[in-house]
Amino acid sequence: MKILIINAGSSSLKYQLIDTADESVKAKGLCERIGIDGSMLTHKAVGKDDYVIESPMPTHKEAIKLVLDALVDADHGVVASVDEIAAVGHRVLHGGLKFTESTLVDTKVKEVIKECFPLGPLHNPANLMGIEACEAAMPGKPNVAVFDTTFGMAMEPYAYLYGIDPKYYEKYSIRRYGFHGTSHMFVSGETIKFGNLPEGNQRVIVCHLGNGASISASKGGKCVDTSMGLTPLEGLIMGTRSGDMDPAVVQTIANGEGISVDEVLTILNKKSGVLAMSGVSSDFRDLGNAAAEGNERAQLALKAFRYRVIKYIGAYTAAMNGVDAITFTGGIGENDFTVRRDVCASLEYLGIKIDPEKNSIRGKKIEISTPDSKVKVFVIPTNEELAIARETVRVAGLA
Ligand code: ADP
Repeated sequence: MKILIINAGSSSLKYQLIDTADESVKAKGLCERIGIDGSMLTHKAVGKDDYVIESPMPTHKEAIKLVLDALVDADHGVVASVDEIAAVGHRVLHGGLKFTESTLVDTKVKEVIKECFPLGPLHNPANLMGIEACEAAMPGKPNVAVFDTTFGMAMEPYAYLYGIDPKYYEKYSIRRYGFHGTSHMFVSGETIKFGNLPEGNQRVIVCHLGNGASISASKGGKCVDTSMGLTPLEGLIMGTRSGDMDPAVVQTIANGEGISVDEVLTILNKKSGVLAMSGVSSDFRDLGNAAAEGNERAQLALKAFRYRVIKYIGAYTAAMNGVDAITFTGGIGENDFTVRRDVCASLEYLGIKIDPEKNSIRGKKIEISTPDSKVKVFVIPTNEELAIARETVRVAGLA
């Protein structure tokens, strides 16, 4: 069965067509510059030449139409007709308080996605446009919304509530939600399977380290805690986000610089993290090179990033009264062996030992701990699209 996965952004739309028979990707691509001059679709299909087409895409509707045309194209397509697509799975950023599960889209679900615009102002409107474009192009086809926040909805109130008056939760739904939920769900599940962890409440810590970065603690695949909060700003130091901070910093910068709270928040989201600390780049390859050449700010930024990861692993081990496995994923987690090496070197107190040779392997599913390590350590590439495809099949009742 073929499932189309859509990840719609405000001016872009990524897609994959996944065959659930062997969970392989038949085609994938990207629409860029939607609503802007110079719109472009890049389509890659298995066994076919890459296909790039420049065509106006004033809205997501035209983008979806071009995607479907590419999928059925005689030369570049992979299906004979759109009817072969069994269902569409959509990545949706924020499900607010209403969604504790992925869900089949209907009018009510669309209303709730809209109600969550204030919680996900950049993503939710685009996600809804993607859904509506698919509904228009493929009437009657099941659409499933898979929320980035669902995984975190399993947290207990003592973990998700901030230390503030509950009236703010009631009035504005302020709580910790967590993001990268689909990745944490997928990777914690894969850790349990791949690691052959004994049945029970397997205690797993997943370090999703990419440009956006977050850590989760889960028992038996259910989230106990996760480092992002009301928004993705909380938690680790990231490529361009500050991560955890005393909120008084916002006041001090706003007053000192004569700028608004909104402007400070933009700085904390887009112009902070290792980018600002190093003054070099948000990209860990650039940072690694600069640090190796003796750039002290780059060295400090990398150290601060690793230190925060180490602190969170310690906190989550305490939260679960131990840990059975730690898994690294995301662009940095999968590829940067120096981060894994340095983080694990600080986890000696947990009896963790890693094999330097296995740790040097890139982007592959592998156990990197030694047989006598007290906690298993893995690298497992994340695959959010596959996780969405699996959820789509389950929720649409196609299994
Ligand atoms: P996001 O999905 O949040 O945009 P990714 O998960 O793609 O981010 O991760 C991007 C990060 O991964 C970048 O900082 C990049 O430098 C880092 N990365 C990718 N490949 C490597 C590598 N070979 N070595 C070190 N870092 C890498």
